[in-house]
Amino acid sequence: MSHVIVGAGLAGVRTAEGLREAGYDGEVVLLGAEEHRPYDRPPLSKDYLQGATDQDGVFLQSAAWFGEHGVDLRTGTAVAAIDRGAAEVVLADGERIGYERLVLATGSSARRLPIPGTELDGVLHLRTLDDSDRLRAGILSASRVAVIGGGWIGLEVAAAARTAGAEVTVLEAAGQPLEAALGPRIGAAFAALHREHGVDVRLGVHVTDIVGKGGLARGVRLGNGDVVEADVVLVGVGAAPNIGLAEAAELELDDGVLVDERLCTSDPRIHAVGDIAAIWYPALERRLRVEHWATAQNTGPVAAAAVLGLPAATYDALPYFFTDQYDLGMEYTGYAGPGEADELVVRGDLERHEYVAFWLRGGRLLAGMNVNIWDVTEDIERLIRSGGTLDPRRLADPDVSLADL
Ligand SMILES: Cc1cc2nc3c(=O)[nH]c(=O)nc-3n(C[C@H](O)[C@H](O)[C@H](O)COP(=O)(O)OP(=O)(O)OC[C@H]3O[C@@H](n4cnc5c(N)ncnc54)[C@H](O)[C@@H]3O)c2cc1C
Repeated sequence: MSHVIVGAGLAGVRTAEGLREAGYDGEVVLLGAEEHRPYDRPPLSKDYLQGATDQDGVFLQSAAWFGEHGVDLRTGTAVAAIDRGAAEVVLADGERIGYERLVLATGSSARRLPIPGTELDGVLHLRTLDDSDRLRAGILSASRVAVIGGGWIGLEVAAAARTAGAEVTVLEAAGQPLEAALGPRIGAAFAALHREHGVDVRLGVHVTDIVGKGGLARGVRLGNGDVVEADVVLVGVGAAPNIGLAEAAELELDDGVLVDERLCTSDPRIHAVGDIAAIWYPALERRLRVEHWATAQNTGPVAAAAVLGLPAATYDALPYFFTDQYDLGMEYTGYAGPGEADELVVRGDLERHEYVAFWLRGGRLLAGMNVNIWDVTEDIERLIRSGGTLDPRRLADPDVSLADL
């Protein structure tokens, strides 16, 4: 009997590695719907999209690694169902694979927009390596790129396209880009960054359809009838967790697949990791599902240890993610959902894009984000975990070391 992992992305691979690193020498089967061997997604909207990294730079392991470590990687293999009664997964062609323990690592898919015109050539989404290849080819041949959605992916693509020399328009329905994640003030700083680089950032706009000619995208129509001309349209309106398998298998769900601190689902033989896992964060005293690279990276080894019944197998990291846009680098630690913070404190200079932003509630730190300032993540994490109330004036004062707070 094998341990079976469904989904050969970052979380799936880290689980397979974790099983071997913990000394497990039984069979490990890693099933991935994509034809490529596992690769990393953040470069797909950054270095790889800009041509600064090649495919070898995004693969998570060499092709030889899987055989050398006895991991039976089957690419191009989608799991169609889980038969919990028989403890088997069922592949699309009907083949069944028995499992001793099953780890679900099925990740997310790019959301689609329910508007006319998305089938036109030149309308693209970004989730996979192939998507990134298509987008790069499109950006290099396009003179005008429209990005629908001013979220993380949309802004990173805008930066890559602008850097490649295209005219870029970002179309965002909210009052600022990234507003749901960061609020209007920090969102405005990101809008300013893109405008400084020549991006036409249009806010509060409603996209009605994508217009085309001869099957090719030609522009994006807005609610007021204006058409933003573009030969490449990137739809960057977020991602949705791939929880269909878990749902059909009647595992407990809560936004994603509900797991405990050992990443175990409501079925003790099934674990879930990465983007799909709705995890209990002891330090935050809440359950959250986040779509962050670090969660996929860190949940895999914990799930592997839990599968093997190792005692230290609990997940206790804080949410953490990063972005790179032009020469701006950022790290965000913790979690402040829309409307959850009652105070925003900024230490540094928003206009120069060099600052740390802190989101507080009742004086307690929920989240911190460092922009072009480094080596403060540990301090931010410590302040969040301590749960103590902070003096906003000292927090804002760059002369007070975070270590002294
Ligand atoms: C372009 C891009 C840029 C990003 N940049 C950042 C960033 O800067 N910072 C950050 O923190 N995060 C970033 N992320 C998010 C981060 O990459 C994800 O959180 C991470 O990839 C999640 O890993 P995962 O293994 O859970 O899922 P995924 O990476 O989505 O992998 C899941 C895999 O499972 C496969 N699968 C799904 N269903 C089945 C099935 N039924 N059978 C078999 N296989 C299946 C899928 O095909 C996929 O290959 C980015 C994401 C994208 C797309």
